[in-house]
Amino acid sequence: MTQPIAIKLPRLQNDLLELFRIGYDADSKGVFRMGFTEADMQARDWLIKKFEQEGFSARMDSAGNIIGSMPGQHSGPVVAIGSHIDSVPAGGMFDGSLGVLAGLECMRTVRDHDLYCHYPLEVYAFAEEEGRFGGMMGVQAIAGELTPQWLETAHDANHVLLKDEMARAGLSALEALNARVDPKHFHAFLELHIEQGPVLERIKKPVGVVDAISGVYKWLVRLIGKANHAGTAPMDMRSDAFMGLADFAHEIPRIIEEDGTDKSRLTIGWVKLKPGYAHTVPGEAEFTLVGRDTDPQVMQDLADSCRRVLSAIARRHNLMFEFEQMSWLAPQAMSDEVIQAFCRRAEALQLDYEVMPSGAGHDAQYMARITPTGLIFIPSIGGISHAPDEWTHWQDVEIGANLLLHTALDFARPSGKTQSA
Ligand SMILES: [Zn+2]
Repeated sequence: MTQPIAIKLPRLQNDLLELFRIGYDADSKGVFRMGFTEADMQARDWLIKKFEQEGFSARMDSAGNIIGSMPGQHSGPVVAIGSHIDSVPAGGMFDGSLGVLAGLECMRTVRDHDLYCHYPLEVYAFAEEEGRFGGMMGVQAIAGELTPQWLETAHDANHVLLKDEMARAGLSALEALNARVDPKHFHAFLELHIEQGPVLERIKKPVGVVDAISGVYKWLVRLIGKANHAGTAPMDMRSDAFMGLADFAHEIPRIIEEDGTDKSRLTIGWVKLKPGYAHTVPGEAEFTLVGRDTDPQVMQDLADSCRRVLSAIARRHNLMFEFEQMSWLAPQAMSDEVIQAFCRRAEALQLDYEVMPSGAGHDAQYMARITPTGLIFIPSIGGISHAPDEWTHWQDVEIGANLLLHTALDFARPSGKTQSA
């Protein structure tokens, strides 16, 4: 059997290292390429030149997305590959950049081997995925999910307005609405990303095929009792808000066991006690509760169960209970057609793979609203990401890029549509 066509790892390595230098900070050893900063825009210019040097066309749309393209034998619809090239503060080398540069490497491989593509290929580097201004702004522009109000008012943690930052980069915020692409333009969308979690490394598999991206809800919960002297208030006469919180935290495993799945997550990540003094019984416990699951009904069941348990605990401890739902983002399933295509190709390439959920959000979740979309993971060493010591073995980078290439070709060369057709 002849060896399957393969990408050239040294070229992809070189691109990743070159891009990592844009916005690199020697002190933290991380990259600072937050959306629409100077470094981010510099990286976008670098990417356009990179495509052009290789003989492909590339452009920036009105939302700041970079789109590299390669014509097929027919004008459309296109097989799109992509991810993002902005970073968190002190980010790593692979998060997002891998999915974009692997797409470029797929195009080069198609060109080198003069492979037949019925449909055109496009590579997307989406703008502002990481959340400086809320996240996934570029892909939402393409999917037509942005509103003028949001574009006018979105700001970062330092109260810098998105529209001012975009203006500084030579873009007009409201023009981002024109970046919307007719869903008919796309045939499929494929994203390769690092896992950013420990599962693939633990089960020793080089590839994860994502079946769904978790939805997430965030509550701000308040348990209100009565602050009192920690010495004079007898234990059985207190309304201790912290004891309510502690009881609830203990109930979390049971809530997941009864109403959740192995994909459910419930996290209390922030807590504030009032008055917050060592010698005072806490009169109020305020905390965040973040719930995740890949199934919308399970997410609802978890939320209902949390509410029931919190009110029962509040009664038991003589507390008042209230909560505010800060956000509710529904889960997003990936396309069965693309999942199966990835799995078939992984088998053909003799790769051991795991079908798994994604606990983190990705550009793919918005592309899934407009075209058949799939997402694959490669292992993150120690599960570390959003940090300078984020790392992935080069061998796994090669495996992921080759799986991306062959699956993209399957969509670019649908059966029955051959060179002679
Ligand atoms: Zn990412």
